[in-house]
Formats: sequence, structure tokens, C-alpha cells
Amino acid sequence: MSRIAGKQQLGPRVVTITVEGRSRWRVVGLDAPSPDFPNKPEAERHLHRELASIPAARRLQERSCLRCGVTFKSQGFHHRMCERCRSHAEI
Ligand SMILES: [Zn+2]
Repeated sequence: MSRIAGKQQLGPRVVTITVEGRSRWRVVGLDAPSPDFPNKPEAERHLHRELASIPAARRLQERSCLRCGVTFKSQGFHHRMCERCRSHAEI
């Protein structure tokens, strides 16, 4: 079971574009603009390289706490409440 991402977030990903009638692949969703690649595996390699270079702290997502609604930095999909609420609610 590996369901990634809610609808609200589209992470970095490989898309196909058409340039002068030819298919090209490009990575979108990264900070740096991506070059175009002639095939999907090359674009995916670029995506993985770029992702690997992002420091962990940068991957933290801002989320609203499920309990009190405050915005906090989530460490992942499992992490849905702010530190304060987590410290008094064991769910
Ligand atoms: Zn909270």
C-alpha cells in the first residue's frame, strides 16, 4: 500500500511536453528549472538527483494541525498535529 500525496499537493514530477512536434520530458515542481530530456528515464534520473540534493529540512510540509488548526511544519504524512497537541493527545 503506497498511496502518495493528497490532492492538495503535487510534488516534483516528470511531465511530457511536445516541442516542435516531438515528445520531450521535463521535471516540474522543483526550485530549479529543468532542462528538457529526450526520454523519460533521463528525466526521472534528473528528478531523483535533484530530490536527493534537497536537504531534509526543506522537505517539511506546512500543514494545519488537525486538532487546533495552527500551521506547523509536518515531518510527513503521518504527522498531522502540532507539537503542542501531540504532547497531550496520544492518538
Ligand atoms: Zn495543534
